[in-house]
Amino acid sequence: MLKFTDFPLDPIILKNLDKLGYETPTPIQEKALPILLKGNDLLGIAQTGTGKTASFSLPIIQYLSENRKPKLPGKPRVLILAPTRELASQIKENIQEYSVDVLLKTAVIFGGVGQASQVNTLRGGVDILVATPGRLLDLMNQGHVSLSSVEIFVLDEADRMLDMGFIHDIKKIVPKIPTNRQTLLFSATMPKTIEGLARDLLRNPQKVEVTPPSTTVERIAQKVIYCDRGTKNSLLEKVMKEEQMDLVLIFSRTKHGANRISEYLQKNKIPSAAIHGNKSQNNRETALANFKSGKIKFLVATDIAARGIDVDGVSHVINFDVPVDAESYVHRIGRTARAGREGIAITFCDDSEKDALKRIEKLIKYIIPKENYIEDPQIKLQRSREASKAVAKARENKPAGEGGKPKVGYRFRNRR
Ligand code: AMP
Repeated sequence: MLKFTDFPLDPIILKNLDKLGYETPTPIQEKALPILLKGNDLLGIAQTGTGKTASFSLPIIQYLSENRKPKLPGKPRVLILAPTRELASQIKENIQEYSVDVLLKTAVIFGGVGQASQVNTLRGGVDILVATPGRLLDLMNQGHVSLSSVEIFVLDEADRMLDMGFIHDIKKIVPKIPTNRQTLLFSATMPKTIEGLARDLLRNPQKVEVTPPSTTVERIAQKVIYCDRGTKNSLLEKVMKEEQMDLVLIFSRTKHGANRISEYLQKNKIPSAAIHGNKSQNNRETALANFKSGKIKFLVATDIAARGIDVDGVSHVINFDVPVDAESYVHRIGRTARAGREGIAITFCDDSEKDALKRIEKLIKYIIPKENYIEDPQIKLQRSREASKAVAKARENKPAGEGGKPKVGYRFRNRR
């Protein structure tokens, strides 16, 4: 497996990546970095979530740090065009994170807000300008930006740009950029129009492509929630309250785990059932029939038991734990988004499961968005009280000397 340190990147950039917790490059980064660091043009077919922003930003930062020039007012050396203000802002933020201490100036401009502060920033001189096409043209026409010093030009999410009707703006912008530039074009899809655009803009481009393995996965909104091991029950309850759910399949790695989840749900008066190898065939069939008919909303299953399940209306898959085997993740989440519908997959991940999660992301070529769960202190207190009670009860029930009350004189007898 390649590491970022295997690429000729400045130690300051490597330190920044380390701070952000980036350990290994994603597939698009592995493929694009060598091409871009050599200064070649690139046609990248990749979606958001693949790590494409870093794949083009890192070589840009590297190039600018090696080839320093004074910042000229209104004359950026790198131009990155993005279709929306959200994406443009995101790109700028990422670049700023990757380039801490590299002494570069990055700015973003987009429409829908006043232009004064954007103009001011440009006047101060910027190295990298991230822009939406409309506002860029506007400021170019007013003489606040000139593209005559641009050395690297990136067109991000080109297919979305065309869908949003930016083609005319782009056609006006491109001729203002010097032709002896390096050009990068990223698009999630490759319709004929994009092929044409790529032919016009790029010179001997190298093509890299990363796409998720199956179309099912694309229709599933995936999310990971980081949590502490002991807080998964209360997290499950919270998710159940917050999400609009129809039928929910909850996965557990082990039969014991599945039973524990199911017991917890029953205790909280949530109609549910568990299916796994230890249940009788009859038992499993009834549980499945009740789930299909909507009589019970929540079905807890192990990987093996769930392989045969084909229920159309599963709106959510909850991975109570992260499957050790990455393929199982794809099988699990494939239980939702059936019959052309959309689905949601939520994975609870504690510290010990982070490596397994990385393997999954590598397999599906997608970095799943993450959230953190901090348990409410009241719930935490109640949980620890219940745990102490359970321990005390278990002690009382056990015969003396087996974890129960110590036998009187036990220690002394042993010493002799
Ligand atoms: P993008 O596809 O560029 O929108 O990136 C998706 C998410 O992945 C962003 O939150 C990045 O910060 C994160 N990311 C990008 N590259 C890596 C990496 N090599 N390791 C971990 N996270 C990454």
